[in-house]
Amino acid sequence: MNRSAVTNACPRIIATAAEALAWIRAQRHAGKSVGLVPTMGALHTGHLSLIERSQQECDCTVVSIFVNPMQFGPHEDFNKYPRPLTADLEKLAAAGVELVFVPTVDEMYPAGFNTHVDPGALGQTWEGAFRPGHFRGVLTIVLKLFEMLPADRAYFGQKDFQQTVVVRQMVADLNLPIEIVICPTIRDNDGLALSSRNAFLDAPQRKSALSISRGLRLAKEQFAAGQRDAAQLGELVRQTIATEPGLEIQYVAVVDPISLAELSQVT
Ligand code: AMP
Repeated sequence: MNRSAVTNACPRIIATAAEALAWIRAQRHAGKSVGLVPTMGALHTGHLSLIERSQQECDCTVVSIFVNPMQFGPHEDFNKYPRPLTADLEKLAAAGVELVFVPTVDEMYPAGFNTHVDPGALGQTWEGAFRPGHFRGVLTIVLKLFEMLPADRAYFGQKDFQQTVVVRQMVADLNLPIEIVICPTIRDNDGLALSSRNAFLDAPQRKSALSISRGLRLAKEQFAAGQRDAAQLGELVRQTIATEPGLEIQYVAVVDPISLAELSQVT
């Protein structure tokens, strides 16, 4: 492990872009590599796995906590999204993170803010079709964070798969000098992918939600057994989820991992 801070030391907490940029530049000037883990807070073991990976690969790790209003639709949960900042900072101190960037909405989007990153067709399909403007908001904040916190590497979770696709495409298209590292999905013992929003689920909803990981696991088993027909694999997931009460399927898709185009055969 390449940690340069003493574990349990308090991380430095910075709220302004200018201070954050100065801190990162000083680290890099001193020859240290920097890893960035962008988050919306309400930290759990999934976030901590990204931090751990950054600490393995970089000399210092910066975590941003910002609930980005631009990526929430008008009827989404921006106002009730959990914001347990004190608990988050304790977790980051215990993890030995060097810097936490916690900007205000005004710091990120001052009066007159007007420019956005358009993810193109990749941002309009699948999740993007149900959440218009979501990936535009994601890419705009991610690009701003890359500028404010010019790290060597940035760490993202595979749980938000389409997010990883649009971020990687932006980095390639705009020649951004940062390496994107995608980390595996961390799940609870029962299979549910860890998510800050799981706090919204009551016990029956949580039980129903398990059908998603169950369906994915069944499809994975079928694939391992030789099934290559994408429609059959997708249907297996769809049927597994459909057996649970209270769930409404928006999309289940077997896609090319770069273009997000639907596949007929999985190779
Ligand atoms: P969020 O705070 O939900 O915006 O997530 C911040 C980062 O953590 C994103 O790159 C997510 O994909 C990643 N992440 C969230 N949950 C998990 C998980 N269960 N396993 C791995 N990464 C995750």
